[in-house]
Amino acid sequence: VSGATFINAPDADYADAEQRDRALQSIQWVRQRLGKRYQPLIDGVYVATDAHIDSLNPSNFSEIVGQVGLINVEQADRAIQAAKAASLGWQKTPATERASILHTAANLMTQRRDELAAWMVFETGKPLNEANGEVSEAIDFCRYYADEMERLDAGVAYDFPGETNHYHYQALGIVVVISPWNFPLAIPTGMAVAALVAGNCVLLKPAETSSVIIAKLTEILVEAGIPQGVFQYVPGKGATVGAHLVKHPQTNMITFTGSQEVGCRIYADAAILQPGQKHLKRVVAEMGGKNAIIVDESADLDQAVQGVVQSAFGYSGQKCSACSRVIVLEPIYDLFLQRLVEATRSLNLGRADHPSTRVGPVIDAAARDRILEYIEKGRQECELALEMPSLEGGYFVGPVIFHDVPPTATIAREEIFGPVLAVMRAQSFVEALELANGTQFALTGGLYSRTPSHIEQARADFEVGNLYINRGITGAIVARQPFGGFKLSGVGSKAGGPDYLLQFLEPRVVTENI
Ligand code: NAP
Repeated sequence: VSGATFINAPDADYADAEQRDRALQSIQWVRQRLGKRYQPLIDGVYVATDAHIDSLNPSNFSEIVGQVGLINVEQADRAIQAAKAASLGWQKTPATERASILHTAANLMTQRRDELAAWMVFETGKPLNEANGEVSEAIDFCRYYADEMERLDAGVAYDFPGETNHYHYQALGIVVVISPWNFPLAIPTGMAVAALVAGNCVLLKPAETSSVIIAKLTEILVEAGIPQGVFQYVPGKGATVGAHLVKHPQTNMITFTGSQEVGCRIYADAAILQPGQKHLKRVVAEMGGKNAIIVDESADLDQAVQGVVQSAFGYSGQKCSACSRVIVLEPIYDLFLQRLVEATRSLNLGRADHPSTRVGPVIDAAARDRILEYIEKGRQECELALEMPSLEGGYFVGPVIFHDVPPTATIAREEIFGPVLAVMRAQSFVEALELANGTQFALTGGLYSRTPSHIEQARADFEVGNLYINRGITGAIVARQPFGGFKLSGVGSKAGGPDYLLQFLEPRVVTENI
C-alpha cells in the first residue's frame, strides 16, 4: 500500500545566493537580540518567576542567548488547573478548526524559517544547514498531524441491520510534553501539536538548554490562535517540576523524548496511582540508541565512508539516530578504516554560526565532560585511530575514532551522545548482524552492501525501528520514514507515521438499536 501522498516542506536552498544571504542576515538579526528575558505562559499570561536560567551559546559560552524564567511547583499546579478549565471547550472544538490552527502555525514557521534556524544555531550549537532541515521537520509535523486528525475524525461506521455502530475518537485530557534539547524545535513541536490537534490541553516542559527556542514556538502557537490554557509553556527543572507534572493526578498522558534513564523513571512514576486519580496514565517514551552501520565487502566504499561520517559526526553525534558503531567485514576492514579516518580528518570543527562548519560544539559543559570521560575509557579499553583537537571558547570536542573495539568495551555498549565512533571487526555477515543486535537498544541501523542475500537478511533480522540500506542513518522525514525504536529505545508509535495520533486519543463506540 502506498502511503506517500504527503508533500514535505522544502528546506531553504543555500546554493541559491538570495536564500543563503537571507539565512546569514537572520543570523545577524538574532545575534542582535540575544540576552532577552523569556517568561512561562500560564493560562494565557506570561508570568513572573522566582528563578531563571541563563541559556548559553555552546559555541561561545560567554554569550547569553536568553534568560528563561523557571516555574515552581505551585505554578505547575496553576497551569494544570488552567488546562483543566480549558479542556472541555477545546475537546468540543471541531477537529477541522483545531487542524486549521496547526496549518496557520506551519505557515508562520515557514515565514520565520531563517530566524528559527538562527535561534537553533545560537542556543543549541546546531550548524545552519542542519537547523534548516529541522525547521522543515517542524512544519511537516504541523501539517501532517492536522491531516491525520481530519482523517481520523471521520470515525468508522460498523453498521448492522437493526443497529448503528459508530467508532470514533475523543481526547484524553491533559498531556505533559517533556522534550530534549537535541532537536529543540522539531521534537517538541511534533509531540505538542499531535496532542493539541487530538483535542488535548498541553503543558510543554522543554529541556533547560533549549528553552528560548520553545519561547519562539509559543509565540507562534499563540499567534496561530491556540486558546488560553490549551497550550502552556512551562520551563522548569526536570527533576522537580517535570517529575511533579508526571505524577500529578490530573495529567492523563506524558509524552517524553530523552535519555533512557529519565524515560524509565517517568514510566515508573506514571504507573503509580495517586490519591484522587481516576485513570491510568499513558506514557510515550522515545529514548536513546547505540546505532550501528554494517559495511560488507561488496559495499560501495565511497558511499559508505560518506554515509558513516555524516551519520556519526553530524551535529557532533548528538542525535538519537547517530551512528556510534560501524561494523566492518574483515576483507575491507583496513581499507575502510583508513578512508574513514581521512574523510573525518577533513571535517571542519567550528562555531555553529560559521557557514563552513561541519562539526559544531556539544550542548554544555556536563555533556563535554561526560564525552571526555568516555574517550578516556575508550583509551583504556581500545585502540585510537583518530583524535581531532578541540577548540577553546565553546564546548568543543573534536571527532574521535577507536578501532578494533571489542563488543564488551564500554564505548561499544553505552550511548555516548557525542562525536565518538567505535569501529568493530567482523569475520562474517552473520557475526556482523549479531554484533549489531547485541545491545539493549533498537533505534536506527544501516547496511552498506550490494549483496542481495545480505540485504534480505538485514531487512528480516536487523533489530531496529528504522533500517537504512545504502544511505546514512540520520535525517528521517515525516511521512516518509516514520521514526522510533523499540527494546530500550522506547515505547510508542512512530513519530510522523500513521499510528502516532492514536496514542493521544481514546476510541469509543456508540451503538444505537434502530
Ligand atoms: P534527558 O536528560 O533525559 O532530558 C529530557 C527531558 O527530561 C528534559 O526536558 C529534562 O529536563 C527532563 N527531565 C529530567 N529529569 C526528569 C524527571 N525526573 N522527570 C521528568 N522530566 C525530567 O535527555 P536530553 O539530554 O535532553 O536528550 C538526549 C537524549 O534524548 C539522548 O539519550 C537521545 O538518544 C534521546 N533522544 C531520543 C530520541 C528518539 O526519538 N528516540 C530523539 C531525540 C533524543 P531538564 O532539562 O530540566 O533536566
